[in-house]
Amino acid sequence: MKLYLASGNAHKAQEMNALAAASGLAVEIVSAKAVGGMPPVEEDTGTFIGNARKKALALKAKLPTDAWVLADDSGVCVEELGGAPGVESAYFAGPQGDSAANLRKLVEVMRGVPAERRRACFLCVLLLIGPGGAEEIFEGRCEGRLLDEPRGGTGFGYDPLFVPDGYAASYAELGDDIKNKISHRGRAWAAMVEWWRDRS
Ligand code: IMP
Repeated sequence: MKLYLASGNAHKAQEMNALAAASGLAVEIVSAKAVGGMPPVEEDTGTFIGNARKKALALKAKLPTDAWVLADDSGVCVEELGGAPGVESAYFAGPQGDSAANLRKLVEVMRGVPAERRRACFLCVLLLIGPGGAEEIFEGRCEGRLLDEPRGGTGFGYDPLFVPDGYAASYAELGDDIKNKISHRGRAWAAMVEWWRDRS
């Protein structure tokens, strides 16, 4: 079965492909790019679920009515910043969505904040829309802390700054396989797999 991914983010697509392969779920992830590209969506609802729904519906409108569509909305929430950047993670440093600038801004705004006030978590909402329009929502969360300076070369976005609880390495040092097992996206994906297995 084909699962159309409502995202223009190549890194997310790569992680979803790896998650799909590891879970043994009989789905083929089809990127928005393969069907003409992700339609532009203004992420203005203020919630992960609302933004994910907008993305899923935008892609679904381009596809045959029997298509299954999956959207991901995610971000990092920093306790010291009252949960920011949160749903605004992609646009923290400005509307252009420059991920290197976003990372630099987070490093700067957290500069000098002591270790005990560097708690953060990553959140991921996966929103699935089936052929009849029915919607299922799966959430994943990964708690951790922010480093003072970025470390590591894998992954994307804020990965080099975030160390998940129970580890000494950042998401970007752990590598894709470990990240996918413990990450916010990996956990949301696992919840979706469980739902899928229950219904079949
Ligand atoms: P959106 O879901 O397209 O609004 O964008 C999510 C943004 O949150 C990304 O552009 C990244 O900045 C950040 N983000 C989400 N998931 C991850 C992750 O797994 N690693 C690092 N950054 C992430």
